[in-house]
Amino acid sequence: HIPVIFITGLRSPIDEEKGLVWGACDYIHKPFNYGIVRARVNTHIEVIRQRRLLERLANFDSLTELPNRRKWQQDSEETWQLAQSTKSKLTLGIIDIDFFKKYNDHYGHQQGDFVLRKVSNILRRIIFESEGDVYRCGGEEFYFYLPNQTVENVTTILNHCVTRITQLAIEHQPSQASDFLSISIGAVHVIPSSKTCLDKTIILADKQLYFVKNSGRNAVKLVKIN
Ligand code: GH3
Ligand code: MG
Ligand code: MG
Repeated sequence: HIPVIFITGLRSPIDEEKGLVWGACDYIHKPFNYGIVRARVNTHIEVIRQRRLLERLANFDSLTELPNRRKWQQDSEETWQLAQSTKSKLTLGIIDIDFFKKYNDHYGHQQGDFVLRKVSNILRRIIFESEGDVYRCGGEEFYFYLPNQTVENVTTILNHCVTRITQLAIEHQPSQASDFLSISIGAVHVIPSSKTCLDKTIILADKQLYFVKNSGRNAVKLVKIN
């Protein structure tokens, strides 16, 4: 990702072509003019700046600064492939804020945004500590993965997420799940193999979330397959 400029005494078009094909972003012949080199360096720095901005806009959600669905699609596929090739454990799941529509209706959309950022920060911190990652994949819906963890560890981590959110003690009067803002989590623990696939695992995680939503919310449902 670092642009390289050749400044060289090799002046033939064949050498220049070779330098550019190898990946140089520019090729300057000696003797060089200081002002021209500086101008070209500035141009390439600007190109890199624009590219980084574009990557950030394409892959990260601006409200929560979490990676977005597009990034999830890339990363989850890579994580799945890696776990499959190394026959390692992997947990995938979905976290959803409980009664968030009612929260917005009662406390206002701006306060809703504030809470979304707060919840995102806490989830990211907990899941990062366990070498996983969390993505904002819908309005108040987050997808995550946790690699190389036992079922027992995952259960502890996810229950910790649920507890930490209610411990924020964010008042949520219209919630039927708790006095405070809460989340529900559905997750699947799997050793990826040819017997299953990423999409089916996510559908299964969504079913676990649905189960939690129908049995009181503010809880975790983790299922282990194969
Ligand atoms: P459940 O417990 O079943 O998940 O209920 P819910 O109300 O959380 O779920 P539902 O899907 O009905 O509503 C999700 C709400 O999330 C709708 C919308 O008001 C809110 N929401 C989605 N994106 C944003 C956002 O960017 N900011 C704010 N403030 N609210 C959002
Ligand atoms: Mg919700
Ligand atoms: Mg939802």
